[in-house]
Amino acid sequence: MKDPWSTLLDDGRADGRLVREAREGPGAATLVDLPNELHPDILGALREIGVKQLYSHQEQALHAAWTGPTIVTTGTASGKSLCFNLPTLEVLCRDSRARALYLYPTKALAQDQARALAAFGLGDRVRPAIYDGDTPREARAQIRRRANVVLTNPDMLHLGILPNHAAWGTLFANLAVVVIDEAHVYRGVFGSHVANVLRRLRRIAAAYGTEPRFLLASATIANPRELAERLTGLEDVELVDRDGSPAPQRQIAMWNPPLTDEALGARRSALAEAAELVARLVREGARTICFIKSRKGVELLTRIVQDDLLDGTAAPTNDSDSVDLAELVVPYRGGYTPQQRRELEGRLMRGELRAVITTDALELGIDIGELDAAVVVAFPGTVASLRQMWGRAGRRGRGLAVYVAGEDALDQFFCRHPDEFLERPVEAAILDHESPQIYLAHLLCAAFEGPLSSTDAELLGPRWEAGAEQLAARGELRRRENGAFVARHPDEYPAAAVSLRSASLENYAIVDVASGELLGTTEAARAHTTVHEGAIYMHLGRTYEVRELDLQRRRALVAPFAGDWYTQPKHETDTTIERLLDRREALGVTLSFGEVSVTETVLAYQRRRWSDHAQLDLIALDLPQTSFSTQALWYELDSRELAERVPPEELLGALHAAEHTQIAVLPLIAMCDRWDIGGLSTNLHPQTGGPTIFIYDGHPGGVGITRTAFQRFEDLCRDAHRLITECPCREGCPSCVQSPKCGNLNEPLSKLGARLLLERLLLVQQSRV
Ligand SMILES: [Zn+2]
Ligand SMILES: [Zn+2]
Repeated sequence: MKDPWSTLLDDGRADGRLVREAREGPGAATLVDLPNELHPDILGALREIGVKQLYSHQEQALHAAWTGPTIVTTGTASGKSLCFNLPTLEVLCRDSRARALYLYPTKALAQDQARALAAFGLGDRVRPAIYDGDTPREARAQIRRRANVVLTNPDMLHLGILPNHAAWGTLFANLAVVVIDEAHVYRGVFGSHVANVLRRLRRIAAAYGTEPRFLLASATIANPRELAERLTGLEDVELVDRDGSPAPQRQIAMWNPPLTDEALGARRSALAEAAELVARLVREGARTICFIKSRKGVELLTRIVQDDLLDGTAAPTNDSDSVDLAELVVPYRGGYTPQQRRELEGRLMRGELRAVITTDALELGIDIGELDAAVVVAFPGTVASLRQMWGRAGRRGRGLAVYVAGEDALDQFFCRHPDEFLERPVEAAILDHESPQIYLAHLLCAAFEGPLSSTDAELLGPRWEAGAEQLAARGELRRRENGAFVARHPDEYPAAAVSLRSASLENYAIVDVASGELLGTTEAARAHTTVHEGAIYMHLGRTYEVRELDLQRRRALVAPFAGDWYTQPKHETDTTIERLLDRREALGVTLSFGEVSVTETVLAYQRRRWSDHAQLDLIALDLPQTSFSTQALWYELDSRELAERVPPEELLGALHAAEHTQIAVLPLIAMCDRWDIGGLSTNLHPQTGGPTIFIYDGHPGGVGITRTAFQRFEDLCRDAHRLITECPCREGCPSCVQSPKCGNLNEPLSKLGARLLLERLLLVQQSRV
């Protein structure tokens, strides 16, 4: 039988757009009998819902969960929920007082899981309830009393449950299980916060005499056990990663839009290319999901696909009526009401739709059934999420998974190394629960929840006392005669001032002028660059224009934006080394890691057209200086040695371009986005006295990204060098040395100079031109 995508792939092979293909699977399932030791009611419930056997990893997880903390990292659609649901249900069925707490990063996922738990039909034994910001006030007391599975999110745990633990006494006194699903989401700033919240949770549970069992599930990442241990603070977490579910046969295709101008590095847009692929798949009858980053992208792509299909003829559907194919293509993104979402999900599940175009809102395990083809437009940031998106393809045992490369440096880098790309291990999820500002903020929250004393060293770490003294010096804590620290203002509510999604306490509110709705917050340290007046600001995939930045009241007023441009701020940056933490000789340079303070002045911003990135104008701004401290690596180059290789007029451009490329490839070694990282290059830094390149964590305090880069500096230089030498452009382009977030608007940049500089580091024989 011919696959619906075979002609498409033939065409791609013929004109070279299909850069590489690979095959996965099929793999047979490893099934085991239902374990007899399970509670008879659970065995009955499983048979009732049609589960007659378990996949081997589900049984393995069940046994692991009985012994100790466990993390499960099997593939998409491998039945991970059952891995933590079975041991939890078992506990609840055996002990009528026992309680369980489920944490989900989003409300939608909590709702999905509540439905899944209810589907077991265990009646009064299992009483799930969602407790989040949408829970009506009058229902809350009832939930606290009656529910034995509380599904919530880390934000609510931090803000609503832990500070009010007295009202939750029954839960904490009987807390047997804590489930953390989608654990890979808790990385970077968010992860560093959640790790602190979970320590506070364990501390409060201990105060009520319980020590709950932690069960985690995650998408495939490089360091699942380490992530689980860092998040929970527990040791010896058991890893279950041998997937016993059947793998479909999946064809994988890397697809690169054709070059339109080689010297400038210009290509046909990934959006146009993806639209063509999706329309063809729809015509051939493949049920397709297409992922693209922004809501604007979702809307544009849907429209282009629909227009393309309107040109075609009507096609038969399931009920043999003729419908326009264009009507079978729908967008799916955040911002829908729950009813609208349910309806779309239902139509998808029933096979009434041919294609869905979505942001990563669908990436996190919401159940929409499996599809034939998955098309991912531009690299989603990590191999881990790319694999998760691809995992959607393969209904009926066969699937097509496509990655359409964008013009970004990483995308094009991957296209030149397709084999390496396809074999790339998934990334490590990095977080730093000891990141000083985050740690102190939660220490204060903990003191509000109960006096801090020497017994807290075990859960809050040995630094608790130094931290508490710091908070006392600031007037936030008070030391009692017995040595314990308590909140100085017990009627204030420190958790309210801490947002888990941001690294600093000082945030700017982002408010929609039309509706008055609070859209979110941004760190004060980043407000000037992201929400200055006139900035085009993206929030959850939707685009806004900033009408006013109110420095006094710390808020930005924004309005929905439909124009065809984006903005890029021009700013001056200075770094001051505050504290050296580590130093080593690497590749012939002195490489340092430590704390720096970053001072920034935003001077102006540039407006650029979306379609071709052409500069429209440069508009001056008058904003005061801001600064924040963070972690950074820096390396000092020998100016005399450098002068022998790099012409003096190229020096600054060489340093600058080297910095950009190193930032571009940093996500290859640490799970982060280039927008999380900043850089500075100078031919004379006042403290080092010579040419120096800084790469710093963009979040106040830092979350461990540059520490990883410090440890793997050699890889960073090697990858950056390859990025530069292999890009076919002449003078540098967005796929190599240019950066979409450069504060100097990509001036000056020397591609050649950066290559020579990196070759000096890597001691590559200078190629004779
Ligand atoms: Zn290039
Ligand atoms: Zn730059």
